[in-house]
Order: sequence, then C-alpha cells, then structure tokens
Amino acid sequence: MNEYDANPAPELDNLILIIKSFLEHIEYTLGKDKYTATRYDAFNALAYAVRDKLVERWLDTQQAYYNSDNKRVYYISMEFLIGRSLINSLINLDILEDFREAITSLGYDFEEIFDEEQEAGLGNGGLGRLAACFLDSMATMSIPAYGYGIRYEYGIFRQKIVDGAQMELPDNWLRYRNPWELDRQEHLHPVKFYGRVLTTTNKFGKTVSEWVDTEDVMAMAYDTPIPGYKNNSVNTMRLWSAKSSRDFDLKFFNEGNYIRAVEKKMQTETISKVLYPADNVIEGKELRFKQEYFLASATIHDVLYRFKKKHTDLRLLPDKVAIQLNDTHPALAIPELMRVLLDLENVDWDDAWQITRKTFAYTNHTILPEALEQWPVWFFEQILPRHLQIIFDINKYFLEEVAKQFPGDNARLARMSIVEEHWERKIRMAHLAIVGSHSVNGVAALHSEILKHQLFRDFYEMYPERFNNKTNGITQRRWLKMSNPSLSELIGEYIGDGWVTDLYELEKLRAVATEPEFAARWQAVKKLNKEKLAAYILKHNCIQVNVDSIFDCQVKRIHEYKRQLLNVLHVITMYNRIKENPAGDFVPRTFIFSGKAAPAYVTAKLIIRLINAVATIVNNDPEVGDRMKVVFLANYSVSLAEHIFPAADLSEQISTAGTEASGTGNMKFALNGSLTIGTLDGANIEIMEEVGRENIFIFGLTTDEVNNTRNKGYNPRDYYSKLPALRRVLDQIAGGFFSPGAPDLFRPIVDLLLNQGDYYMLLADYTSYIACQDEVSKLYRDQNEWTRRAILNTAGMGKFSSDRTIAEYARDIWGISPVCVKGAESRQHGDSSAHGSF
Ligand SMILES: *Cc1c(COP(=O)(O)O)cnc(C)c1O
Repeated sequence: MNEYDANPAPELDNLILIIKSFLEHIEYTLGKDKYTATRYDAFNALAYAVRDKLVERWLDTQQAYYNSDNKRVYYISMEFLIGRSLINSLINLDILEDFREAITSLGYDFEEIFDEEQEAGLGNGGLGRLAACFLDSMATMSIPAYGYGIRYEYGIFRQKIVDGAQMELPDNWLRYRNPWELDRQEHLHPVKFYGRVLTTTNKFGKTVSEWVDTEDVMAMAYDTPIPGYKNNSVNTMRLWSAKSSRDFDLKFFNEGNYIRAVEKKMQTETISKVLYPADNVIEGKELRFKQEYFLASATIHDVLYRFKKKHTDLRLLPDKVAIQLNDTHPALAIPELMRVLLDLENVDWDDAWQITRKTFAYTNHTILPEALEQWPVWFFEQILPRHLQIIFDINKYFLEEVAKQFPGDNARLARMSIVEEHWERKIRMAHLAIVGSHSVNGVAALHSEILKHQLFRDFYEMYPERFNNKTNGITQRRWLKMSNPSLSELIGEYIGDGWVTDLYELEKLRAVATEPEFAARWQAVKKLNKEKLAAYILKHNCIQVNVDSIFDCQVKRIHEYKRQLLNVLHVITMYNRIKENPAGDFVPRTFIFSGKAAPAYVTAKLIIRLINAVATIVNNDPEVGDRMKVVFLANYSVSLAEHIFPAADLSEQISTAGTEASGTGNMKFALNGSLTIGTLDGANIEIMEEVGRENIFIFGLTTDEVNNTRNKGYNPRDYYSKLPALRRVLDQIAGGFFSPGAPDLFRPIVDLLLNQGDYYMLLADYTSYIACQDEVSKLYRDQNEWTRRAILNTAGMGKFSSDRTIAEYARDIWGISPVCVKGAESRQHGDSSAHGSF
C-alpha cells in the first residue's frame, strides 16, 4: 500500500504515513527512541523521510533519461554552494505543509528542527551559488542534467570575528552524517598522476602514446538528489571523493613498510580534503591543480561510461553530451577527453578534436587578471606529462590556423598562444578553454562585451561565432518562496503563484504598486522581516538597531574591487555630519556588512577590521544614538543570506565599473523589494533596464570613463586636495581615530588610496556616491514613494530567474530539450528495461 492508493481520508492517511516514516527512521535508521532522540536526530529522521520521497522520483527520472536517450548536459564546477536542503526539498516536492503539520503534531518545533541542518558550503561565493541555482532550474525545467564537483570534507571556512578581526575555523561539515548523499561504491574511477609517457609505433605504423608508472587515486562518487519544483524530476549532483587505490597500498605493504603505506594512503586522500577559500583569485598551488584534474578526469570517465551504455560510435558524443565548464577550473577535462579518445579509444586526432570541441562550452566569470588561471608548464611535466604533449599539439595546430588567417602577425601569435613563454612557461587555461570549446560566454551583457572587445579580443576576431552572453540568474524558489514566505504569500494573494515557475508573472505587480492596501501590507512584511533580522543582530552582535532606519546592506565576499571601503567612506562621512550638527535631521541608517575575506588576502582582512573599528566608535557614541548603527554579521553563508535579503531596504552594488562580471546578490536583493544603489557594472545595468532608470540609484564612472581616466593618468590626490569632507575621512582613518590603541593600524588602507594609485578609483567616485546616498535618504522620507519603487523593483525581476538563463543555455549552447517524468502513480513496477546503476 502506498499513499497514492485510493482511500476515504487521504489527508489524514498522509499525515499518518509521514509520522510513521519519521518514527521508523528515528528507530531503525538512527537507533534511538523517544527518550534518547535529540533535536539533531529529529532533523536527520525528517531528512531521511524526505529523502525517501526524493528517491522514488529520482529512480523514475533516471529511468526516463535512460529510455529517452536525449542529449544530456554535464555542468562541471569546482564549487557548488548549495546551502541547506530540507526546506527546499519540502517546497519543491510540495509537501512542506503536510510535513510541518505531522512533525508539529509530535510536539516538535519545526523551525528549531530545520535549524539543525549543516549547510553544504562547497563554494566561495557567486560562482558556486550560481552552480547551485542552475541545478535547481535544470531540475525544475526537466532538463536531463548532472552537476559534477568535488566532495570536499571541509567547505568554506567558518568566519568568527575576534576583536574586530576575521578568524577562520574549519568547516567540518561531514563530521556528522549527511543525510542527503548516497555513496556509490560501484562508481569508482582511477585517476592517474605523475609517471611518464611511452611512445611507440604500432603494427600499422601509427605512433601511440601510453602513460605509465603513474600513481593512481580512486575517485568515488557520492550522489545528492536535486528535486525540481512540483514536476517529479529529480536530477543528480555527483561529487567525487578521493580514496587511495588498493594496488598502490600493496606496493608498500609488500615491502613490509606498513606506516609508509598508510601515510601514502592518507596523502592521496587529501585531494578532496578542502575547498580553496579564495574567491576571484588563483592560489597556484599544486594541490589545487591536482583537485582540478581529479574532477576533470573522474567526470570524463563517468560521462563516457554512461554514453557507452547506449552507443558505440564516439563521433556521436556531441549529439548526446554537452559539457559546460564553470570557469576554467575544470578545463583540464578538454585535454583529458582528447587523451582518452586518442590513447584509449584509438580515435585519430582530427576526429578527436572535432568531438571534443563540439562537446565543450566555456563560461568565463571574471576579467580580473589575478583570477585568470595559468599553470606552470613544470606542473604538467611532473604531474600530467601526457596532457602537456596534447596541449602542445593543440597549440601547434591552433597557431598554424592563426598564422594562416593573420599572416606575418607574430605579436598576435604570442598573445594568443596557449603557452605563455616567460622565464617560467605557463599554460593559459582560458586560451585552452576557448580553443577547445564551441561556445564562450560571459555572464552579463557588459561582461560579454568586455570579453569580445578587450580580454579575448584576438579570439573574437578569429572566432566571432563562438562568443555569446548568458546573463546570470537566481532561483526564485530559494530566494523568494523559501527565504521570504511572508512576501511570497502576499504576492500570491494578489497575482497568484505562477511566478514560482515563471518569474515574468511578477510584472502583474505593477498594476497594484500604488494600491494602498497592497502597499501597506508590503510595508508590514518588510517591517516584520526587519524585526527578525534585528533580533538576529541583537542575539549575535549585541547591537540594538532601529527597525525604522534604512537597512543599508552590503553582503558579499570582501574584495577591493567590490569596494566595501567606499561604503565605509560614506559611513564615516555620515558620522562626521552628525557630529558637526548633532541636532540635525538625519534619516536613520543601519549599515549592515557581511562577507568573508580570503585568509591570505591582507587588505581585505584589514577592511574587515576597519568596518568593525568604525562600528565600535559609531555604535557607542551617545550623540549618534539610534540614528546610525554599523553591524558586521559574521560568517556570511547561504543561510545567513536567506535572513538578510528579505530585510534589506538598500542593496549596495558599488564595484568599479567593468570589474564585477555579473553579480547575483544584486538580483536577490531586488527580488525581495530592496532598492539598489549601484554603478553601471555587471548585471546592474540590466537590472536598471528592467526596473526603469527612475527606480534605481546609479552613480559613478562608467566603464569607458574608468578606462579613459586610467589612460589619461588618474591622480587620486587631486580628489583628496579638492574635497574637504573626503580629506577629513581619510585623515581620520590614517591618523588612528578609529584605532586609538594602534594609530597606524589602518594607515596602509589610506596609503593604497593616496600613494598606490587607488586602482579601483574610490576617490573618483566618492562625490557622486555621497550625492546618490543623499538622494536615497531623501526618498526614504517618502515611505509611499519608496514602497512603490520597491514593488516595481520586484515586479521587474522576471528576467533574472535562473530558469531564463538555463533556457538560453539549453537553446543556444547545449541544444537540449526537456524530458518530462511521469508521476509516481503511473510508475511501472518490475519494469524489465532496468539498466543497472546510473
Ligand atoms: C548570492 C551569493 C553570493 C554572490 O553575491 P555577489 O553580491 O553577487 O558577489 C555570494 N555568497 C552567497 C552566500 C550568496 O548567496
């Protein structure tokens, strides 16, 4: 008997089944009873009960994909910033209210239980979160898709603030059980490292290469189900974990060196130990290089294994498989596929190259030079010698093509080469990714233009048809429906729930934006969400904030290009104005910062200290009172983000024009009814186009103006001399006003601005930023107008659903169509077309 069988009281029956499943997991899966079960046990039992529901649909989905034999897409990413899964799964399976009722009836506090979930923080920031939003959209759109990544034992570090400074703690998220994953012992691929290449001539006179004497590491699969929204589809995120290979151990065991054998075993298993915590910057470490190859190799073998279950002719691969590279991090998959085709499958070069190029597509995520991956040739010589040969061959044929198209242009050959010929020769991974793909995309319109006309200009001249734009998006299931239930309900009452799968439906809000009752309820929801965040701030920071103040939020990784420091200059400017005119009429503000700095990024860490130092002075100044508070929320993460966006009034998106590829935080804020103050950068530009120029606060230099100013010779000191308010702020920072015990502490920050060129042009944008902030304050006094614009922001967010982004990838790059999954009620038990494990 199952829950779909006809019965006279289906609701009651359903509740009983949920309770039964929950109690059985407490007893049989966890081995507890009602006396010994902790709240954490309750979470796990609940998660297992939900997982059971997922698994039914998961098997159906994979069977449907196998039967249809449609083209599939593999999204390879070194990061998946998933966050928590319980509520998201309940929502997507449309069983949240049933489960809430069942669990509450057992005497549990539902919210307390889901707060027990560890978050899967296998990413740094936007790039990893994008991958997670894409998985949700692909499942919701019934696209046969797989996310491939690494099962890091330690995700992004947990941030603590101690005496104002960032401290990093390990995120040992797998120490307790992870109820969402299933280990797949049978999906074990050997990944080779080191060794040498044997070149011989076979009996047909063909040169063949063999990679021998390698040290092998096993990649073991762990699968996590990714449910679509109310559509019976459940896709797979497959993460690889490194396990030592048995042969490898045996060598040492046979020599009688037990300790050495175990040591080696431990060493090889370090490959999947920890996520590198730097965002938008490469670390260049050998272990990271190995991680990238580990992911690339295991995934390529898995893709081919699945392909071969139905096909024998490898030339069909591009018709059945699309591989999307999330930045260059997994780009070693290109030479890896070439190696497998050439050396293991005996495909000749031209066919192998055709197959490879048609299969791969590359997404660029940044133009910051420090983030463009270049691996030393000697890494390859030692660790991936066969891949180096293949890359050299790819480069040779490629440069021949360039020379044919642009005869005599040697400078161009040097610029475009995959190999950078400096004193230390390096492989430029972006060049390899462009040459080895049929599609290269940026992640916002401006960014894609910069790729075509600046960063990859030479490549665009040669292969214009390869370049395209796919503006990023976010999933509204998590970033509105789940994280902001009050607003979701209000919206639903007025325009229905169509927006959950078609975000353009939000346009219907325009018609009610000035309806007094709707606006009043909108304000009440925002107030409620602000009260919740205020309670969080009181609990974690011991700061009482004014919920009638503007919640002015900048939450994202701490990076110079994102210009948290420019925000701080405004904070101090406002503080000085209050001090100069204590009786003045100021619109109160709560400045909320949150974000992690890479542990080795000295300037970013100093900026965190500065924010906290300014907070200490401002928050404890009785003359300021509740007109101004500065809050740094520790440990920015998906879960914390879910608290912040619904409560924000103002979204700070203030990167130097031309530096932020897209941004997705900007979209989450606007979706939740915040107004944006931002530069004409990344997706801000498209947000402006969608919500209307009059409903967003734009300031600062444009990308062209930034470039022109730099070319003319930018002198930040001009602004320092000209602007007394700015001068005062910088003098305070440099002179120890905010660090009385250590007067020189923040001098390096001012030094960067005044003496080291102010690369991100904070001083050039200061005046227009402050003026724009004054406009913000002025508007906030008019709550009706503010609310109207907030509603229009939400109403204009249709374009920024990751569903739209994925539809474009599927249509333009992958050539993939949906495979719909029948409901479980029509599932064929004992289906004879079973195909073994997927
Ligand atoms: C959305 C998101 C980001 C990206 O934010 P940006 O403002 O686009 O840099 C980073 N971290 C988390 C946890 C997010 O949810």
